[in-house]
Amino acid sequence: MANTQIAAARAGRITEEMHRVAERENRDPEFVRERVADGQAVIPANRNHDALDPMIIGREFATKVNANIGNSETTSDLETELEKLHAAVHYGADTVMDLGTGSDLDDIRETHVDHSPVPLGTVPLYEAVKRAGSPEDLTTDLLLEVIEKQAEQGVDYMTIHAGILAEHLALTDGRKTGIVSRGGSIVAKWMEERGEQNPLFQVYDEICEIFAEHDVTFSLGDSLRPGSLADACDEAQYAELDTLGELTRRAWEYDVQVMVEGPGHVPMHRVAENVERQQEVCDGAPFYVLGPLVTDIAPGYDHITSAIGAAMAAQAGAAMLCYVTPKEHLGLPEEDDVREGLAAYRIAAHAGDVANERPGARDWDDALSEARYEFDWREQFRLALDPDRARDYHDQTLPGDNYKEARFCSMCGVDFCSMRIDQDARDVEDGEMTRLETKTDLESSSAAEVNLPPVGTHDSPSTVDADGESALEGASDD
Ligand code: SF4
Repeated sequence: MANTQIAAARAGRITEEMHRVAERENRDPEFVRERVADGQAVIPANRNHDALDPMIIGREFATKVNANIGNSETTSDLETELEKLHAAVHYGADTVMDLGTGSDLDDIRETHVDHSPVPLGTVPLYEAVKRAGSPEDLTTDLLLEVIEKQAEQGVDYMTIHAGILAEHLALTDGRKTGIVSRGGSIVAKWMEERGEQNPLFQVYDEICEIFAEHDVTFSLGDSLRPGSLADACDEAQYAELDTLGELTRRAWEYDVQVMVEGPGHVPMHRVAENVERQQEVCDGAPFYVLGPLVTDIAPGYDHITSAIGAAMAAQAGAAMLCYVTPKEHLGLPEEDDVREGLAAYRIAAHAGDVANERPGARDWDDALSEARYEFDWREQFRLALDPDRARDYHDQTLPGDNYKEARFCSMCGVDFCSMRIDQDARDVEDGEMTRLETKTDLESSSAAEVNLPPVGTHDSPSTVDADGESALEGASDD
Protein backbone atom coordinates (compact mmCIF):
# COMPACT_ATOMS: atom_id res chain seq x y z
CA MET A 1 0.00 0.00 0.00
CA ALA A 2 1.21 3.50 -0.82
CA ASN A 3 2.35 5.66 2.08
CA THR A 4 0.15 8.60 1.15
CA GLN A 5 -2.45 10.69 2.93
CA ILE A 6 -5.23 9.16 0.84
CA ALA A 7 -4.01 5.63 1.50
CA ALA A 8 -3.97 6.27 5.24
CA ALA A 9 -7.41 7.90 5.08
CA ARG A 10 -8.84 4.97 3.14
CA ALA A 11 -7.39 2.60 5.75
CA GLY A 12 -9.22 4.57 8.44
CA ARG A 13 -6.09 6.16 9.89
CA ILE A 14 -5.99 9.83 10.92
CA THR A 15 -2.48 11.10 10.23
CA GLU A 16 -0.60 13.86 12.03
CA GLU A 17 -1.21 16.07 9.00
CA MET A 18 -4.98 15.44 9.20
CA HIS A 19 -4.97 16.40 12.87
CA ARG A 20 -3.11 19.60 12.06
CA VAL A 21 -5.42 20.67 9.22
CA ALA A 22 -8.44 19.83 11.38
CA GLU A 23 -7.01 22.20 13.99
CA ARG A 24 -6.35 24.93 11.41
CA GLU A 25 -9.84 24.63 9.90
CA ASN A 26 -11.74 23.99 13.13
CA ARG A 27 -13.02 20.68 11.84
CA ASP A 28 -13.34 17.25 13.28
CA PRO A 29 -10.31 15.12 12.29
CA GLU A 30 -12.67 12.35 11.19
CA PHE A 31 -14.38 14.77 8.81
CA VAL A 32 -10.97 15.58 7.31
CA ARG A 33 -10.11 11.89 6.99
CA GLU A 34 -13.36 11.11 5.20
CA ARG A 35 -12.90 13.92 2.67
CA VAL A 36 -9.32 12.86 1.93
CA ALA A 37 -10.34 9.20 1.66
CA ASP A 38 -12.98 9.88 -0.97
CA GLY A 39 -10.78 12.30 -2.95
CA GLN A 40 -12.90 15.37 -2.17
CA ALA A 41 -9.93 17.08 -0.52
CA VAL A 42 -6.14 16.84 -0.71
CA ILE A 43 -3.34 17.49 1.78
CA PRO A 44 -0.29 18.19 -0.40
CA ALA A 45 2.51 17.05 1.90
CA ASN A 46 5.58 15.45 0.38
CA ARG A 47 7.30 13.39 3.06
CA ASN A 48 10.59 15.17 2.29
CA HIS A 49 9.18 18.66 2.93
CA ASP A 50 10.22 19.13 6.56
CA ALA A 51 9.38 22.86 6.82
CA LEU A 52 5.74 22.30 5.84
CA ASP A 53 2.79 23.29 8.00
CA PRO A 54 0.10 21.04 6.48
CA MET A 55 -3.03 22.53 4.91
CA ILE A 56 -6.02 21.13 3.06
CA ILE A 57 -7.64 21.93 -0.28
CA GLY A 58 -11.25 20.93 -0.86
CA ARG A 59 -14.57 22.60 -1.58
CA GLU A 60 -15.86 22.01 1.95
CA PHE A 61 -12.89 23.79 3.50
CA ALA A 62 -11.81 27.43 3.44
CA THR A 63 -11.02 28.49 -0.12
CA LYS A 64 -7.27 28.64 -0.67
CA VAL A 65 -5.09 30.92 -2.79
CA ASN A 66 -1.98 30.00 -4.73
CA ALA A 67 0.74 32.44 -5.78
CA ASN A 68 3.07 31.73 -8.68
CA ILE A 69 6.69 32.75 -8.37
CA GLY A 70 9.77 31.82 -10.37
CA ASN A 71 12.50 33.21 -12.51
CA SER A 72 12.86 33.47 -16.26
CA GLU A 73 15.85 33.72 -18.54
CA THR A 74 15.81 37.48 -18.14
CA THR A 75 15.54 37.67 -14.35
CA SER A 76 17.23 35.17 -12.15
CA ASP A 77 18.99 34.86 -8.81
CA LEU A 78 18.61 32.80 -5.68
CA GLU A 79 18.16 35.64 -3.21
CA THR A 80 15.47 37.33 -5.30
CA GLU A 81 13.59 34.06 -5.61
CA LEU A 82 13.69 33.54 -1.85
CA GLU A 83 12.41 37.09 -1.32
CA LYS A 84 9.52 36.32 -3.66
CA LEU A 85 8.66 33.24 -1.62
CA HIS A 86 8.75 35.34 1.56
CA ALA A 87 6.55 38.02 -0.02
CA ALA A 88 4.04 35.43 -1.24
CA VAL A 89 3.68 33.78 2.17
CA HIS A 90 3.77 37.13 3.98
CA TYR A 91 0.86 38.41 1.90
CA GLY A 92 -1.16 35.29 2.55
CA ALA A 93 -0.51 32.66 -0.12
CA ASP A 94 -1.71 29.21 1.01
CA THR A 95 0.48 27.47 -1.57
CA VAL A 96 3.25 28.63 -3.87
CA MET A 97 4.10 27.38 -7.33
CA ASP A 98 7.64 27.76 -8.57
CA LEU A 99 7.29 28.22 -12.32
CA GLY A 100 10.95 29.04 -12.85
CA THR A 101 12.45 28.55 -16.30
CA GLY A 102 15.73 30.40 -15.81
CA SER A 103 19.02 29.19 -14.36
CA ASP A 104 19.86 27.47 -11.04
CA LEU A 105 16.49 25.70 -11.02
CA ASP A 106 17.70 22.92 -8.74
CA ASP A 107 19.27 25.21 -6.14
CA ILE A 108 16.26 27.51 -6.13
CA ARG A 109 13.84 24.59 -5.71
CA GLU A 110 15.83 23.10 -2.85
CA THR A 111 16.00 26.47 -1.12
CA HIS A 112 12.26 26.93 -1.58
CA VAL A 113 11.51 23.51 -0.07
CA ASP A 114 13.86 24.23 2.86
CA HIS A 115 12.17 27.56 3.64
CA SER A 116 8.54 27.16 2.68
CA PRO A 117 5.92 26.49 5.37
CA VAL A 118 3.31 26.22 2.59
CA PRO A 119 3.05 23.46 -0.02
CA LEU A 120 5.31 23.98 -3.02
CA GLY A 121 4.13 23.15 -6.52
CA THR A 122 6.09 22.89 -9.77
CA VAL A 123 5.64 22.12 -13.46
CA PRO A 124 8.38 19.54 -14.10
CA LEU A 125 7.82 19.80 -17.85
CA TYR A 126 9.58 23.19 -17.81
CA GLU A 127 12.79 21.80 -16.37
CA ALA A 128 12.63 18.82 -18.73
CA VAL A 129 12.35 21.10 -21.78
CA LYS A 130 15.20 23.23 -20.53
CA ARG A 131 17.37 20.17 -20.16
CA ALA A 132 16.31 18.72 -23.51
CA GLY A 133 17.03 22.01 -25.29
CA SER A 134 13.76 22.11 -27.23
CA PRO A 135 10.25 20.62 -26.92
CA GLU A 136 10.84 18.18 -29.80
CA ASP A 137 13.87 16.67 -28.04
CA LEU A 138 11.96 15.73 -24.90
CA THR A 139 11.87 12.03 -24.08
CA THR A 140 9.67 10.09 -21.70
CA ASP A 141 12.80 8.93 -19.82
CA LEU A 142 13.88 12.50 -19.24
CA LEU A 143 10.39 13.49 -18.07
CA LEU A 144 10.32 10.66 -15.54
CA GLU A 145 13.85 11.46 -14.38
CA VAL A 146 12.96 15.11 -13.70
CA ILE A 147 9.66 14.20 -12.01
CA GLU A 148 11.38 11.67 -9.76
CA LYS A 149 14.16 14.09 -8.81
CA GLN A 150 11.67 16.86 -7.94
CA ALA A 151 9.61 14.38 -5.90
CA GLU A 152 12.76 13.42 -3.98
CA GLN A 153 13.54 17.10 -3.40
CA GLY A 154 10.23 17.50 -1.54
CA VAL A 155 7.88 19.15 -4.05
CA ASP A 156 4.33 18.72 -2.71
CA TYR A 157 2.32 18.92 -5.91
CA MET A 158 3.10 18.97 -9.62
CA THR A 159 1.20 20.18 -12.62
CA ILE A 160 1.17 17.32 -15.10
CA HIS A 161 -0.16 18.13 -18.57
CA ALA A 162 -1.32 14.58 -19.31
CA GLY A 163 -4.87 15.44 -20.38
CA ILE A 164 -4.20 17.01 -23.78
CA LEU A 165 -4.34 14.22 -26.34
CA ALA A 166 -3.32 14.09 -30.01
CA GLU A 167 -6.99 13.79 -31.00
CA HIS A 168 -7.80 17.07 -29.21
CA LEU A 169 -5.46 19.23 -31.27
CA ALA A 170 -7.73 19.63 -34.30
CA LEU A 171 -10.44 20.95 -31.97
CA THR A 172 -8.36 24.07 -31.34
CA ASP A 173 -8.11 25.06 -35.04
CA GLY A 174 -10.93 27.60 -34.99
CA ARG A 175 -9.88 29.27 -31.76
CA LYS A 176 -9.11 32.96 -31.47
CA THR A 177 -6.14 32.39 -29.16
CA GLY A 178 -5.08 28.78 -29.82
CA ILE A 179 -3.32 26.98 -26.97
CA VAL A 180 -2.28 29.46 -24.26
CA SER A 181 -1.07 27.07 -21.58
CA ARG A 182 2.75 27.03 -21.62
CA GLY A 183 2.85 23.31 -20.87
CA GLY A 184 0.02 22.63 -23.30
CA SER A 185 1.77 24.38 -26.17
CA ILE A 186 4.96 22.40 -25.51
CA VAL A 187 3.17 19.05 -25.41
CA ALA A 188 1.13 19.92 -28.51
CA LYS A 189 4.27 20.79 -30.45
CA TRP A 190 5.90 17.52 -29.35
CA MET A 191 2.89 15.49 -30.52
CA GLU A 192 2.74 17.30 -33.86
CA GLU A 193 6.46 16.95 -34.57
CA ARG A 194 6.64 13.31 -33.56
CA GLY A 195 3.20 12.09 -34.57
CA GLU A 196 2.89 10.35 -31.20
CA GLN A 197 0.54 10.52 -28.21
CA ASN A 198 1.24 12.94 -25.31
CA PRO A 199 4.42 11.66 -23.57
CA LEU A 200 3.01 12.43 -20.10
CA PHE A 201 -0.10 10.42 -20.94
CA GLN A 202 2.13 7.57 -22.17
CA VAL A 203 3.97 7.32 -18.84
CA TYR A 204 1.07 8.27 -16.58
CA ASP A 205 1.17 4.99 -14.64
CA GLU A 206 4.89 5.43 -13.94
CA ILE A 207 4.22 8.98 -12.71
CA CYS A 208 1.52 7.62 -10.40
CA GLU A 209 4.05 5.17 -8.95
CA ILE A 210 6.55 7.97 -8.25
CA PHE A 211 3.84 10.12 -6.68
CA ALA A 212 2.65 7.22 -4.53
CA GLU A 213 6.18 6.68 -3.24
CA HIS A 214 6.74 10.31 -2.17
CA ASP A 215 3.13 11.41 -1.63
CA VAL A 216 3.16 14.03 -4.36
CA THR A 217 -0.29 15.37 -5.27
CA PHE A 218 -1.35 15.65 -8.90
CA SER A 219 -2.44 19.01 -10.16
CA LEU A 220 -3.78 17.86 -13.52
CA GLY A 221 -3.00 20.65 -15.97
CA ASP A 222 -5.64 22.18 -18.22
CA SER A 223 -3.56 22.54 -21.35
CA LEU A 224 -6.55 23.51 -23.46
CA ARG A 225 -7.94 26.18 -21.18
CA PRO A 226 -9.41 29.11 -23.08
CA GLY A 227 -7.12 32.12 -23.47
CA SER A 228 -9.98 34.43 -24.44
CA LEU A 229 -13.69 34.73 -23.84
CA ALA A 230 -14.30 33.64 -27.42
CA ASP A 231 -12.70 30.25 -26.73
CA ALA A 232 -14.37 29.61 -23.36
CA CYS A 233 -16.26 26.34 -22.86
CA ASP A 234 -15.44 25.07 -26.35
CA GLU A 235 -15.18 21.49 -27.51
CA ALA A 236 -11.40 21.37 -26.98
CA GLN A 237 -11.63 22.53 -23.35
CA TYR A 238 -14.35 20.05 -22.44
CA ALA A 239 -12.76 17.15 -24.36
CA GLU A 240 -9.62 17.59 -22.27
CA LEU A 241 -11.72 17.82 -19.10
CA ASP A 242 -13.19 14.39 -19.87
CA THR A 243 -9.67 12.99 -20.08
CA LEU A 244 -8.78 14.70 -16.78
CA GLY A 245 -11.72 12.89 -15.20
CA GLU A 246 -10.33 9.54 -16.37
CA LEU A 247 -6.83 10.44 -15.16
CA THR A 248 -8.26 11.42 -11.76
CA ARG A 249 -9.75 7.98 -11.29
CA ARG A 250 -6.55 6.29 -12.49
CA ALA A 251 -4.45 8.20 -9.93
CA TRP A 252 -6.88 7.27 -7.16
CA GLU A 253 -6.29 3.60 -8.04
CA TYR A 254 -2.65 4.19 -7.03
CA ASP A 255 -3.70 5.91 -3.78
CA VAL A 256 -2.43 9.23 -5.13
CA GLN A 257 -4.15 12.53 -4.30
CA VAL A 258 -5.51 14.64 -7.18
CA MET A 259 -6.69 18.15 -7.86
CA VAL A 260 -7.69 19.40 -11.29
CA GLU A 261 -6.78 22.73 -12.87
CA GLY A 262 -9.31 24.95 -14.60
CA PRO A 263 -9.61 28.05 -16.77
CA GLY A 264 -8.64 30.70 -17.77
CA HIS A 265 -10.86 33.26 -19.52
CA VAL A 266 -14.61 32.70 -18.96
CA PRO A 267 -17.49 35.19 -19.09
CA MET A 268 -19.34 35.62 -15.81
CA HIS A 269 -22.47 33.83 -16.89
CA ARG A 270 -20.51 30.63 -17.57
CA VAL A 271 -18.21 30.48 -14.52
CA ALA A 272 -20.50 28.30 -12.37
CA GLU A 273 -21.06 25.95 -15.32
CA ASN A 274 -17.29 25.31 -15.46
CA VAL A 275 -17.09 24.43 -11.77
CA GLU A 276 -20.18 22.23 -11.82
CA ARG A 277 -19.01 20.36 -14.90
CA GLN A 278 -15.55 19.71 -13.45
CA GLN A 279 -17.05 18.48 -10.19
CA GLU A 280 -19.26 16.07 -12.06
CA VAL A 281 -16.67 14.82 -14.55
CA CYS A 282 -13.91 14.47 -11.94
CA ASP A 283 -16.06 12.95 -9.18
CA GLY A 284 -15.62 15.89 -6.81
CA ALA A 285 -11.81 16.13 -6.96
CA PRO A 286 -10.79 19.65 -5.82
CA PHE A 287 -10.94 22.26 -8.59
CA TYR A 288 -8.01 24.66 -8.76
CA VAL A 289 -8.83 27.56 -11.04
CA LEU A 290 -6.73 30.28 -12.62
CA GLY A 291 -9.00 33.30 -12.27
CA PRO A 292 -10.99 33.04 -14.48
CA LEU A 293 -10.70 36.42 -16.17
CA VAL A 294 -14.23 37.56 -16.98
CA THR A 295 -13.22 40.05 -19.68
CA ASP A 296 -10.21 40.41 -22.00
CA ILE A 297 -10.10 44.20 -22.19
CA ALA A 298 -8.00 45.24 -19.20
CA PRO A 299 -4.30 44.36 -19.40
CA GLY A 300 -2.68 45.99 -16.37
CA TYR A 301 -5.77 45.25 -14.27
CA ASP A 302 -6.15 41.52 -14.73
CA HIS A 303 -5.90 40.90 -10.99
CA ILE A 304 -9.32 42.59 -10.93
CA THR A 305 -10.85 41.01 -14.06
CA SER A 306 -9.81 37.61 -12.73
CA ALA A 307 -10.67 38.12 -9.06
CA ILE A 308 -14.26 38.72 -10.13
CA GLY A 309 -14.30 35.30 -11.81
CA ALA A 310 -12.39 33.75 -8.90
CA ALA A 311 -14.98 34.93 -6.37
CA MET A 312 -17.74 33.47 -8.51
CA ALA A 313 -15.81 30.21 -8.92
CA ALA A 314 -15.26 30.01 -5.16
CA GLN A 315 -18.95 30.48 -4.54
CA ALA A 316 -19.71 27.75 -7.08
CA GLY A 317 -17.37 25.27 -5.37
CA ALA A 318 -13.79 25.83 -6.56
CA ALA A 319 -11.37 24.79 -3.82
CA MET A 320 -8.28 26.84 -4.68
CA LEU A 321 -7.74 30.01 -6.68
CA CYS A 322 -4.50 30.62 -8.55
CA TYR A 323 -3.82 34.33 -8.28
CA VAL A 324 -3.30 36.63 -11.24
CA THR A 325 -1.25 39.80 -10.81
CA PRO A 326 -1.59 43.16 -12.57
CA LYS A 327 1.36 42.07 -14.75
CA GLU A 328 -0.58 39.17 -16.31
CA HIS A 329 -0.02 39.07 -20.08
CA LEU A 330 2.57 41.85 -19.72
CA GLY A 331 5.60 40.78 -17.69
CA LEU A 332 7.08 38.88 -14.76
CA PRO A 333 5.52 40.09 -11.46
CA GLU A 334 7.60 41.98 -8.88
CA GLU A 335 6.94 42.04 -5.14
CA ASP A 336 4.34 44.81 -5.38
CA ASP A 337 2.45 42.85 -8.03
CA VAL A 338 2.49 39.80 -5.75
CA ARG A 339 0.98 41.95 -3.00
CA GLU A 340 -1.76 43.32 -5.27
CA GLY A 341 -2.56 39.92 -6.73
CA LEU A 342 -2.74 38.20 -3.36
CA ALA A 343 -4.92 40.91 -1.85
CA ALA A 344 -7.36 40.59 -4.76
CA TYR A 345 -7.46 36.81 -4.44
CA ARG A 346 -7.74 36.65 -0.66
CA ILE A 347 -10.73 38.94 -1.02
CA ALA A 348 -12.21 36.63 -3.67
CA ALA A 349 -11.60 33.53 -1.53
CA HIS A 350 -13.04 35.10 1.60
CA ALA A 351 -16.05 36.48 -0.29
CA GLY A 352 -16.69 32.95 -1.57
CA ASP A 353 -16.45 31.53 1.96
CA VAL A 354 -18.87 34.15 3.29
CA ALA A 355 -21.31 33.47 0.44
CA ASN A 356 -21.09 29.73 1.14
CA GLU A 357 -21.70 30.40 4.84
CA ARG A 358 -18.57 28.58 5.95
CA PRO A 359 -18.63 28.35 9.75
CA GLY A 360 -17.38 31.60 11.22
CA ALA A 361 -16.26 33.09 7.90
CA ARG A 362 -18.21 36.32 8.42
CA ASP A 363 -16.90 36.87 11.94
CA TRP A 364 -13.87 38.65 10.50
CA ASP A 365 -16.16 41.06 8.57
CA ASP A 366 -18.29 41.67 11.64
CA ALA A 367 -15.31 42.38 13.89
CA LEU A 368 -13.92 44.87 11.40
CA SER A 369 -17.29 46.59 10.92
CA GLU A 370 -17.64 46.98 14.67
CA ALA A 371 -14.22 48.60 14.92
CA ARG A 372 -15.16 50.89 12.03
CA TYR A 373 -18.44 52.01 13.61
CA GLU A 374 -16.69 52.69 16.91
CA PHE A 375 -13.93 54.73 15.23
CA ASP A 376 -11.40 52.29 16.68
CA TRP A 377 -8.85 53.02 13.96
CA ARG A 378 -6.04 50.91 15.39
CA GLU A 379 -8.29 47.89 15.62
CA GLN A 380 -9.54 48.54 12.10
CA PHE A 381 -5.97 48.52 10.78
CA ARG A 382 -5.07 45.45 12.81
CA LEU A 383 -7.97 43.47 11.36
CA ALA A 384 -7.55 44.73 7.80
CA LEU A 385 -6.59 42.24 5.13
CA ASP A 386 -3.54 44.39 4.44
CA PRO A 387 -2.90 46.36 7.67
CA ASP A 388 0.04 48.31 6.25
CA ARG A 389 -2.01 49.51 3.29
CA ALA A 390 -4.94 50.58 5.49
CA ARG A 391 -2.70 52.45 7.92
CA ASP A 392 -0.68 54.12 5.14
CA TYR A 393 -3.80 55.38 3.37
CA HIS A 394 -5.21 56.81 6.60
CA ASP A 395 -1.89 58.46 7.41
CA GLN A 396 -1.63 60.12 4.01
CA THR A 397 -4.20 62.75 5.02
CA LEU A 398 -4.45 62.40 8.81
CA PRO A 399 -1.00 61.36 10.00
CA GLY A 400 -1.12 62.59 13.62
CA ASP A 401 -1.68 60.21 16.54
CA ASN A 402 -4.67 62.29 17.65
CA TYR A 403 -6.49 61.30 14.44
CA LYS A 404 -6.38 57.68 15.60
CA GLU A 405 -9.06 58.70 18.09
CA ALA A 406 -10.99 60.92 15.66
CA ARG A 407 -14.69 60.41 14.94
CA PHE A 408 -14.23 61.08 11.22
CA CYS A 409 -11.68 60.63 8.46
CA SER A 410 -10.77 62.78 5.47
CA MET A 411 -13.16 60.98 3.14
CA CYS A 412 -16.30 62.87 4.21
CA GLY A 413 -14.61 65.29 6.62
CA VAL A 414 -15.54 66.24 10.17
CA ASP A 415 -18.88 67.91 9.36
CA PHE A 416 -20.20 65.26 7.01
CA CYS A 417 -19.10 62.03 8.70
CA SER A 418 -22.28 59.99 8.42
CA MET A 419 -21.33 57.52 11.14
CA ARG A 420 -20.65 60.33 13.62
CA ILE A 421 -23.91 62.07 12.66
CA ASP A 422 -25.79 58.80 13.07
CA GLN A 423 -24.18 58.08 16.43
CA ASP A 424 -24.86 61.63 17.71
CA ALA A 425 -28.51 61.34 16.70
CA ARG A 426 -28.82 58.06 18.59
CA ASP A 427 -27.01 59.51 21.59
CA VAL A 428 -29.57 62.34 21.74
CA GLU A 429 -32.34 59.74 21.73
CA ASP A 430 -30.74 57.56 24.38
CA GLY A 431 -29.04 60.27 26.36
CA GLU A 432 -25.75 58.42 26.35
CA MET A 433 -22.94 57.41 23.99
CA THR A 434 -23.99 54.63 21.66
CA ARG A 435 -21.83 51.55 21.96
CA LEU A 436 -22.31 48.16 20.43
CA GLU A 437 -23.68 45.85 23.07
CA THR A 438 -22.40 42.58 21.71
CA LYS A 439 -19.11 42.28 19.93
CA THR A 440 -17.73 39.51 17.80
CA ASP A 441 -15.27 37.38 19.69
CA LEU A 442 -12.86 36.68 16.89
CA GLU A 443 -10.47 34.72 19.03
CA SER A 444 -13.01 32.04 19.75
CA SER A 445 -14.53 32.18 16.27
CA SER A 446 -14.43 28.96 14.33
CA ALA A 447 -12.76 30.95 11.55
CA ALA A 448 -9.89 32.10 13.74
CA GLU A 449 -7.53 29.24 12.96
CA VAL A 450 -8.15 29.59 9.23
CA ASN A 451 -6.90 33.16 9.40
CA LEU A 452 -3.70 32.15 11.13
CA PRO A 453 -0.46 32.05 9.20
CA PRO A 454 1.28 28.72 8.68
CA VAL A 455 3.68 27.70 11.37
CA GLY A 456 7.15 28.51 10.11
CA THR A 457 9.28 31.47 9.25
CA HIS A 458 6.55 33.77 8.03
CA ASP A 459 3.61 35.73 9.35
CA SER A 460 0.55 36.85 7.49
CA PRO A 461 -0.04 40.61 7.72
CA SER A 462 -3.67 40.21 8.67
CA THR A 463 -2.68 38.49 11.86
CA VAL A 464 0.07 40.79 13.01
CA ASP A 465 -0.54 44.07 14.77
CA ALA A 466 1.54 47.23 14.72
CA ASP A 467 3.85 45.91 17.44
CA GLY A 468 4.42 42.67 15.60
CA GLU A 469 2.15 40.78 18.00
CA SER A 470 -0.20 38.17 16.64
CA ALA A 471 -3.77 39.42 16.41
CA LEU A 472 -5.22 35.99 16.92
CA GLU A 473 -4.57 33.57 19.70
CA GLY A 474 -2.20 30.73 19.02
CA ALA A 475 -0.24 32.29 16.17
CA SER A 476 3.23 30.93 16.08
CA ASP A 477 6.31 31.86 14.16
CA ASP A 478 10.01 32.11 14.69
S1 SF4 B 1 -15.75 60.45 7.42
FE1 SF4 B 1 -16.99 59.14 6.08
S2 SF4 B 1 -15.56 57.48 5.48
FE2 SF4 B 1 -14.64 58.55 7.23
S3 SF4 B 1 -15.33 57.43 9.03
FE3 SF4 B 1 -16.86 59.04 8.73
S4 SF4 B 1 -18.43 58.09 7.44
FE4 SF4 B 1 -16.64 56.75 7.31
